[in-house]
Amino acid sequence: MSKDNLSCDVLIVGGGPAGLSVASRLAQSHSCIVVHQDTEIGKPVRTSGGTWLRDMTALGIPAHLYQVIDQLDFFSDTQEARFTVNDDKMAVMDVTGVYQYLASELSPQNSQMLLGTKFLSCEKHFDGTYTSQIRSREGERQSIQSKMIVDASGWHCAVLSSLELGQKPDRVGVGIEFEFPIANFAPNRAVLFVGSTALTGYGWIFPTADRKLRLGIGVINPDTDLSPRTVMNAFVKDGHAARYGITIPENYDVNSGIIPSAPYDPKLVFGNIVRTGDAANFATPTVGEGIRIAIEFGRKLGAEISAHLAGDTRALERYEKAARKTFERDYRFGFMMNKRIAGYTPERWDKSVKRLSRLSEFEMTALVRSRFGIRTILRTVWLSLLAKF
Ligand SMILES: Cc1cc2nc3c(=O)[nH]c(=O)nc-3n(C[C@H](O)[C@H](O)[C@H](O)COP(=O)(O)OP(=O)(O)OC[C@H]3O[C@@H](n4cnc5c(N)ncnc54)[C@H](O)[C@@H]3O)c2cc1C
Repeated sequence: MSKDNLSCDVLIVGGGPAGLSVASRLAQSHSCIVVHQDTEIGKPVRTSGGTWLRDMTALGIPAHLYQVIDQLDFFSDTQEARFTVNDDKMAVMDVTGVYQYLASELSPQNSQMLLGTKFLSCEKHFDGTYTSQIRSREGERQSIQSKMIVDASGWHCAVLSSLELGQKPDRVGVGIEFEFPIANFAPNRAVLFVGSTALTGYGWIFPTADRKLRLGIGVINPDTDLSPRTVMNAFVKDGHAARYGITIPENYDVNSGIIPSAPYDPKLVFGNIVRTGDAANFATPTVGEGIRIAIEFGRKLGAEISAHLAGDTRALERYEKAARKTFERDYRFGFMMNKRIAGYTPERWDKSVKRLSRLSEFEMTALVRSRFGIRTILRTVWLSLLAKF
């Protein structure tokens, strides 16, 4: 791959967990270029890193890159539901560390990473190949020839938009996070809060492995036209932090990000263009958890692209089918729930958190993970009926 005339088998747009995971699982015989608009992998942080211990272990993420959580507390304005988690423990990732670990899995033999470089547009040729235009931060433009393109650009959907195969979501979760030293907060405890302090969305308090706390608030636009910054400022000004046992220091780091909040669409493959991660709406509709899914399905896609390039005509279809099987039913139900709870009043949230306190650990984690097996659905309906009396 020369710098003047870039070409590769697979162009991957986006160096987040999805794009890096695709690149890491391509066979050595297939070359790839990852184009990433940020100048460093995993920085700035645009996510809060909440996940599950079981998934981190299954994905082989080194244990020093996450903090294990076994106490999960939910709060609404007047209610609380506290869980000690034994079976399915949560974890909070060191986001930058995990993304850099994923980048370290790329092979220098067949992959090249262009940091600080933005994908601008692309054009398809009669022979089915593509020419993409990219631009460095210094304004230098180049083109890349490729056989395939993976859209792993997150909510930007940069490739699909450029080819008019799709567009950016019109409903998004927008979040802001303050990060500061943990002080006296228990390092094994996470908090989720809902109600008047985070209407249309929710707030979180996550401890990290490097003894920091992440206090975040996310809201859904356009369900509300408030920005998360406005909601967070009100949270801080009104002194709500004290209820959760935290004091916000004068100085803190600020992270912010955007995630699609749109229904799952099973179409992932458009000829030799494939989407994955947030560009394919893979994050859970209940709490917008997408990193472990971006890694798992990114790796699957990398392996299937290798098979496709080696002549297996069913490979990309297999990727699409695997995603459909995993997400379609759960996410349909989860998205209905997402739309409904985004309109909850604080009083309605009080009732819901009261109901949540009656769930078992298994049922609570199923809800948070957007896993709607028949047992969870029946139990949720039953508790809704009980709440009416
Ligand atoms: C506030 C907030 C909190 C969240 N909390 C959690 C959580 O606790 N746990 C969890 O699992 N998930 C969480 N998520 C969701 C999670 O961050 C995403 O699901 C995950 O990052 C998706 O990975 P991705 O690689 O698909 O996309 P991204 O992480 O968005 O990566 C895409 C990358 O592509 C780059 N890019 C975009 N356009 C271009 C272009 N034109 N050219 C080059 N590069 C481009 C972007 O800069 C970006 O870095 C949260 C999201 C937000 C916004």
